[in-house]
Amino acid sequence: MYADIVVERGRIRSVQPAEHGTTIHTDNGVFTFPGGHVLPGFVDSHAHLFGLGLRLTTTSLHTATSAADCVQRMTQGPLQGGWARAMGWNQELWDVAAFPTKDTLDAVFPHTPAVARRVDGHALWVNSAALRAAGINDTTPDPVGGTILRDGDGHATGILIDHAMDLVERCLPAFTDEAMTDLYRIAADHCASKGITEVHDMDVAPAWLGPLRALAERGALATRVQAYVGGQHDEWINAGLLPAGGEFLRLHGVKLYADGALGSRGAYLLAPYHDEPSTSGLELLTKHRIVQAGRAVIDAGWWALAVHAIGDAAVRTVLDAFAQIRTLPGGAELTLRLEHAQHVHPDDVHRFAELRVHAMVQPTHCTSDAPMAEQRLGPERLPWAYRWRSLLDANAMLAGSSDFPIEPADPMAGIDAFCRRIPNGTTQSWQPQERLTRDEAIKAFTSWGHRVTEVDHRRGRIAEGFDADLVVVDHDMTTCADDDIRATAILATFTAGTLRYQRPDQHETRPTA
Ligand SMILES: [Zn+2]
Repeated sequence: MYADIVVERGRIRSVQPAEHGTTIHTDNGVFTFPGGHVLPGFVDSHAHLFGLGLRLTTTSLHTATSAADCVQRMTQGPLQGGWARAMGWNQELWDVAAFPTKDTLDAVFPHTPAVARRVDGHALWVNSAALRAAGINDTTPDPVGGTILRDGDGHATGILIDHAMDLVERCLPAFTDEAMTDLYRIAADHCASKGITEVHDMDVAPAWLGPLRALAERGALATRVQAYVGGQHDEWINAGLLPAGGEFLRLHGVKLYADGALGSRGAYLLAPYHDEPSTSGLELLTKHRIVQAGRAVIDAGWWALAVHAIGDAAVRTVLDAFAQIRTLPGGAELTLRLEHAQHVHPDDVHRFAELRVHAMVQPTHCTSDAPMAEQRLGPERLPWAYRWRSLLDANAMLAGSSDFPIEPADPMAGIDAFCRRIPNGTTQSWQPQERLTRDEAIKAFTSWGHRVTEVDHRRGRIAEGFDADLVVVDHDMTTCADDDIRATAILATFTAGTLRYQRPDQHETRPTA
């Protein structure tokens, strides 16, 4: 919409319709955008800010075409604390779609430990020096919930799956406070440049909170953060963390993992993998353990419990656990989030509404992974994957997110994927019966995201009294052609009424008198 908006101390004081373009009067000046349309700022309701900061400052392998290409890129990046680090490889995109091995890394890094995370964050590719640093040898047993891939002679190949990654990752040099502050600042600035004014930040480690708090307190965080601290190994309990409110940073909930991801066959399925019948994936948490964790979360006064569940078996386990948590004292009020909800058995779709569970979905995972999902799931189960329409039609509460840095931090890409479901590199809508309307897709990235954290009474709409979290774009994405959604450009982003991003060609027309 075109509007003339007056902001006072972070809130919208008045909104008037305008003829053509948008003007925002703030405490720090008046900003005019001829032809600009204003929308509520976007929420990315499942993402990883620290990971995005790392991605923006670490060697990226996302566009690499082979293992050799990855290693070549890693030689050009700086060492971090004596380690070569990279992220984003995806063997499905390579000429030879097989897991890489330590040998390729060893050829270039014979002594320097080298580690590279897979794009989904569920596999780590390491060299011999990294295996040595972690003390992994031929007799090291697989940790619970993890796998050390081995060759025919029992030697580690250099691929560590899920919890086996911890063996090496705990040896990585720690970040200084200064480095962590930089990572968060860079990530939050990047979000603002994409129109994002609030992030639900998942798997926050207690050690990151000091720098994050400091940024929030001095007003240097460009986007609001609802933090979900790690709880898989009782991290929040061991660190003595408790929930805390705040305008820019709120410690809102605790995050657990019930299974792994589909790409690395860690997603926990009710029936074996179509392309690997010897496995049904990894069950990382039992129902009992989730209920126990829920009890601790309620006792400590957290607002929310978020549990990652991708496979249909994990989704069912988590819903069973949530049903029991709802019966605990205080359990009725807890916000329950099922992260990803990628693969939902038909018998479980209706339970989201019954149990008031938020389905926290990632539309761009669908458009990135559809071909891989077809292989893993096979034809019969395919209609159960990424079933947004079915969930909404069953009255589930749904919210949209990117899971950045796994996917780019880009709400336009998410809204496009919700509306069109066209896998990358193709032209046909995939399982088109599960698409959302434009209005639903935009809400999923605005007001429905705020509903999860119960701030939708003051965020996610452009109305008097609402927080002035606003994004100005170059055309009307509520009515534009489908093909133009992704071409929508961000002209400016305001969080709490303060300009956090402005496209370089946009100029402030009237500074404060
Ligand atoms: Zn995630």
